[in-house]
Amino acid sequence: MKGNRADVQAIKERVDTIGLISRYVSLTKSGANYKGRCPFHKDDTPSMVVNAEKGLWHCFGCGEGGDVIAFLMKIERLSFIEAVKRLAAEVGMSFEASDDGEREKLRRITAEAAEYFAANLTGNAAGKKARAYLLERGYDEASWKRYGLGYALPGWDNLKRRFGSRHGEATLVELGLLVRGDENTYDRFRDRTIFPIHDLSGRPIAFGGRAFEGEPKYLNSPKTPLFDKGRLLYGLPWAREGLAATRTAVLVEGYTDVLTLQQAGLTNAVGSMGTSLTQGQADLLKRFVDDVVISYDQDAAGGAAAIRGMQILRNSGLGVRVVQLPSGEDPDGLVRREGAEAMAAAIRAAVPFHRFFVDRVLAEHDRSTARGKERILDAVREFYRAVRVPTLREEIERHLADLLDLSVESVRRGLPRRREVHWSDRDAQGAVESWGEEEVLLSLLLRGEITWDRISGVATPEDFSEGNRPIAEALASGVAELSALVDHLDEESSRRASYYALAPVRFSDTDKAVRDALARLVPLPEAEQELKDLTKQLEEAAEAGDWERWNGLMERKIALKAKALTAKGDE
Ligand SMILES: [Zn+2]
Repeated sequence: MKGNRADVQAIKERVDTIGLISRYVSLTKSGANYKGRCPFHKDDTPSMVVNAEKGLWHCFGCGEGGDVIAFLMKIERLSFIEAVKRLAAEVGMSFEASDDGEREKLRRITAEAAEYFAANLTGNAAGKKARAYLLERGYDEASWKRYGLGYALPGWDNLKRRFGSRHGEATLVELGLLVRGDENTYDRFRDRTIFPIHDLSGRPIAFGGRAFEGEPKYLNSPKTPLFDKGRLLYGLPWAREGLAATRTAVLVEGYTDVLTLQQAGLTNAVGSMGTSLTQGQADLLKRFVDDVVISYDQDAAGGAAAIRGMQILRNSGLGVRVVQLPSGEDPDGLVRREGAEAMAAAIRAAVPFHRFFVDRVLAEHDRSTARGKERILDAVREFYRAVRVPTLREEIERHLADLLDLSVESVRRGLPRRREVHWSDRDAQGAVESWGEEEVLLSLLLRGEITWDRISGVATPEDFSEGNRPIAEALASGVAELSALVDHLDEESSRRASYYALAPVRFSDTDKAVRDALARLVPLPEAEQELKDLTKQLEEAAEAGDWERWNGLMERKIALKAKALTAKGDE
């Protein structure tokens, strides 16, 4: 938790952004901003831009960015609280991290819950089926202890009755142990095998629960003051030695994948808890290793979320390879059926991730025809655009040229040219080329050129993709002040926000840019289709004399028309 937001904001407002960053980076004035060589990557052209008024910085070379707190955290390797305390001292304010004691309390309760689940596993008759399941998977009693495994009893209020009066239901809800329903609170984890999730020092901070039947098969703790899935890796405390020894992480998806690999002696296995890797996880991995080997099941590995995650890892400077498992196989299954050596061999045979991606695309198209080649280049385009490492881009070009029997030159012509964005007026419109509608809208919003009202009649935060949605949500909730907005966002989102706010982009016709972007964000054909449907349904309702239904449909139609008009502008 970010302490008291109002206090943090008051401290930030007093900090001299330029003065602070100047201690580490030599800044020169450039228009309304300052620029300098980024301290977070090898920067030959000054790629870092600082805006004093907005209190934001962003590096257009490596993508780092955020507010002064983010800068101090990154350069001095401080925690959020440490950075805020340091800034508070500088501006002569005091900052009591009111939640230091609070967090400790939450940690203790979580540890108690973990002990409770563990006791259910070994000391409760109802735990029998969990014991049987774990033994059958090859986890003996020693490993239950080592990994802190447990069992959540069936029923809605076992944990609640045990802890509710002692710790307060509100606290248990905050920790994700209880869920608040319409009328009452109840246990989140019921009749599930429990895998505690530990922080770096090995203390339990959250839980994953596996069902014996029914959905969802896996249930995690939600985001809590202690736990943020995007900043953690499952099994890290047990993997630290293995990671240090190999400088390589084997990244798997699930809890049992991690445990089975750990038990089989592949001690550098850690779990990403899902396939959508985040920048926070990439930063964490970078502290321990140079290379990552992704070992998801094949369908998940090829999914858009996983590919995006691999891009994040690669752009963070990590080597990324992908293990190719037989279809339908996961690491846990492979080790149990064919032994640790089979898994080790699969890891050794892992292919670089760009090769993995390109080969998948190739498998889907006919590369013997010109049309097929064109389609392949089309399919690679988005992926290629997101690759920031020049040598890697060249490798992709060569690989494609080889496989498509084309010259490197013609492959290059078929792929988008990537323009390095420099902060000078000459290149002022440079970034637009690679931007989509979401980037355009968010950048205009974050720079105050338009307000959320301008688009709220047409678009909602849900229209934005996952990565941009938190920013859209914060804007829609009325947080207009940029440096306050960053406080509402996690690290990855504030990095994006600083990028959109400081990117050197100018639109000759803002109004047109907004209209075009909205039309693409909320495509009209669908709305028009719905209008047609509604007209037909209105006729039917009128014929049937169902005027209540007719009224409802009419309201919907009026709303849709208004939406369409706003999107088209005032034509
Ligand atoms: Zn940089």
